Amino acid sequence: MSEHSSSFLAKSTIKVSDREHRRKINFNISKYNAVVPVGKQQFTDVNLARERAKNIKWKAIENLDKELETFEAQITKKGAKVIWAETADDALNEILNICKEKNCSTLVKSKSMVTEEIHLNKFLEKNGIESIETDLGEYIQQLDEEPPYHIVTPAMHKSKEDVARLFANKLGTSPHLSPSQLTLVAREKLREKYMKAEVGITGANFIIADIGGIAITENEGNGRLSCAWPKTHIVVVGIEKVIPSMTDLALFWPLLATYGTGQRVTVYSSIVTGPRQVAENDGPEEMYVILLDNGRTNILANEKARESLYCIRCGACLNACPVYKNIGGHSYDATYSGPIGSVITPHLKDMGEWKHLSYASSLCGNCTEVCAVKINLHELLLENRHEAVEEGSAAFAEKMAWKFWKSAMLHRGLMNMGTGKMKSWLINSFAKSWTKHRSDLDFPQKSFNQLWKERNK
Ligand code: SF4
Repeated sequence: MSEHSSSFLAKSTIKVSDREHRRKINFNISKYNAVVPVGKQQFTDVNLARERAKNIKWKAIENLDKELETFEAQITKKGAKVIWAETADDALNEILNICKEKNCSTLVKSKSMVTEEIHLNKFLEKNGIESIETDLGEYIQQLDEEPPYHIVTPAMHKSKEDVARLFANKLGTSPHLSPSQLTLVAREKLREKYMKAEVGITGANFIIADIGGIAITENEGNGRLSCAWPKTHIVVVGIEKVIPSMTDLALFWPLLATYGTGQRVTVYSSIVTGPRQVAENDGPEEMYVILLDNGRTNILANEKARESLYCIRCGACLNACPVYKNIGGHSYDATYSGPIGSVITPHLKDMGEWKHLSYASSLCGNCTEVCAVKINLHELLLENRHEAVEEGSAAFAEKMAWKFWKSAMLHRGLMNMGTGKMKSWLINSFAKSWTKHRSDLDFPQKSFNQLWKERNK
């Protein structure tokens, strides 16, 4: 068993019996569940909208090279610099070089899962650069020295009382502040950082190929401020985020808002097509776009898993997943948790080390049912299992169990041997890894053949 697999089992075992954790998650997800149907009402036919979005992403991913080159050509015309980063280290080194060139000691950052993926904050800290999260949820998580818990709502597992206590411990405020008072405290602290920051880093929800732009959608205005206020703006974005045309945003923005937070459209929606132009009054003097691969081309090369690159990171599959709701986001130990994380992490990292995530599913199909772009998530989880077996990374015990099962299925005589009691004892005594987390298997007292004979007497 890999180290990650043991850690996953240990952490999830603790979390599933944590009732307080479950209460908070159920409370927050119930609020999400209440608003999503309202957001969906804006679509005449929401399923058709999802199907269209899937088709657009299919086209974009099938032509990924061309779309990215179009984007590069267009945004370069406006003065932005595009950097292609094959690995996390490439991206980190490029960011560090830019920061050094700008004598940057403080930078502000808006919410971005890709920067989590490359562990940007830790890297900058090691290099003497203060990197401040400006999204409120991310700011809370940074104060608590925890990674995001959820791809859309990073502090979903914390109650307002938890946040008030955290601010009291870390910032010396009263432990009885209300959510709006806490927000004002964060706002005040963050404004100071904005004034100091030489560099602003953002992710991007979409890369728009035809106009050479990036689209950022958020609810707090911190993303817009991070790209417009500091003199240098760096965008770090995964190459799969491309959409062919700006007109596609008319579909993707409402879809992301509805499936992400139940809104019709997110409060701040920005399109950035380059640094400040000659006739413009504001915006950064320089803009860099780092296009990150970091394993995405492995997924692209895999015909079955390629579909997972359509993901727009709305988080709906996490909220719908019975496993995620019970074990929480941190048990996965991966940047991307929940069903989509379980699909892509083994491909982004290492199948042998991370295949256990593909088994962290009841295969109920709820994730596929709710996915904003109709990715067949539960089938991709099965594909991952299949690949892990093909690659020979299935455990010896698992191989033997399937061999035994196969010969029993092919030989009716074997199936009929012994009583139900004996079969239950045999399986429950030997399949310890199964019964450790599940109730004992209970075989029927009579075999199918016996029942059939009795019925036809
Ligand atoms: S896989 Fe689908 S539901 Fe899950 S985050 Fe991506 S787009 Fe949303």
